[in-house]
Amino acid sequence: MGWDKVMPSRPVVAVAGATGAVGVEMLKVLEQRDFPADRVIALASARSAGKRVPFRGGELVVEEMTPASFSGVDIALFSAGAGVSKAFRDAVTGAGAVMIDNSSAFRQEADVPLVVPEVNAEAARRHNGVIANPNCSTIILLMAIKPLLQFGPIRRIVVSTYQAASGAGARAMQELLDQTREALLGSPLTQQVFPHPIAFNLFCHNSRVEADGYNEEERKMLYESRKILHDDGLRVTATCVRVPVLRSHSESINVEFENERPRLEEVIKAYRESPGLLLVDDREANHFPMPIEANGRDEVLVGRIREDVSNERALDLFASGDQILKGAALNGYQIAQEWIRLTEGSAAASTSS
Ligand code: NAP
Repeated sequence: MGWDKVMPSRPVVAVAGATGAVGVEMLKVLEQRDFPADRVIALASARSAGKRVPFRGGELVVEEMTPASFSGVDIALFSAGAGVSKAFRDAVTGAGAVMIDNSSAFRQEADVPLVVPEVNAEAARRHNGVIANPNCSTIILLMAIKPLLQFGPIRRIVVSTYQAASGAGARAMQELLDQTREALLGSPLTQQVFPHPIAFNLFCHNSRVEADGYNEEERKMLYESRKILHDDGLRVTATCVRVPVLRSHSESINVEFENERPRLEEVIKAYRESPGLLLVDDREANHFPMPIEANGRDEVLVGRIREDVSNERALDLFASGDQILKGAALNGYQIAQEWIRLTEGSAAASTSS
């Protein structure tokens, strides 16, 4: 596996899916962090061609994405769904661009690294033109798990998610707003995106339920965690639930260690010192991670850290993270940065050798 492209100091960046929930956030991330892009191109379907999206005090005109869109592009940040990523992969890599993909299309392919920079940044070094962004619930889970790995091997993780409507895209977020208004007015609910009412309700995550009873989101949390942590034997059982929250996913996490569990003070210290995490754990004020406080933040909030009274090797905790940011746009951006940093290192090494 190897990709010998050396990134120019001012790359041309394409944002594929620029009108969607993740794409809009991706443009904001590029803008706020002042990414040294030579040019940023906003791509979407023919439906959005000609629309304008705000960028760096001005506007970008959205272009219809075609295979020719990637000529001259160095980095293509994809969030347009798995089918679209599959359809455009060859056009992107054929044009010599690196595809950083937010969809589930390639995550389990052996030559596609699956990267959460705070967890396995090194994996971004070797790829064949595609680097995948993990599933948003998996990113939030592993951000909370990573600092615990220093205390010894983990035997099993039991996780339940409380997933925001926006995880299913911009139209799903609008559906929650519309249904809430309709429910309060006593009107019939308009239901176009989710299979069940989302206002004042919650339900099993809206992905396909497999023969074993797990839905696809739950399986992603298991298989993607194994790949990222390089631990094929890791045991994860997940229950993924969609809740009437607009933005930011939350997770209740039970972690069982192979051996003795760490002391709470050690865990709290580890969380305080971990990049990308914010400890929110005030028992007196009953103040713990909440989606409303995770919104718009880069960090994943962790707290409610306590010893599991039913298992002397286990800890309980709770996490909330902005799944459009750290779960998608920000993580994708960090992957691009990481890859540039890693290849700059190799370019410098090969020049000096
Ligand atoms: P979304 O709000 O529905 O946006 C989808 C985007 O894809 C829109 O810009 C849409 O453009 C574009 N698109 C659709 N079909 C296209 C085509 N044939 N050619 C070019 N562009 C096309 O969805 P999203 O929530 O942003 O999710 C996008 C991807 O990111 C999905 O794979 C999703 O699983 C993943 N993801 C989402 C989240 C999240 O929290 N939402 C988190 C992690 C990963 P039009 O406006 O022209 O239709």
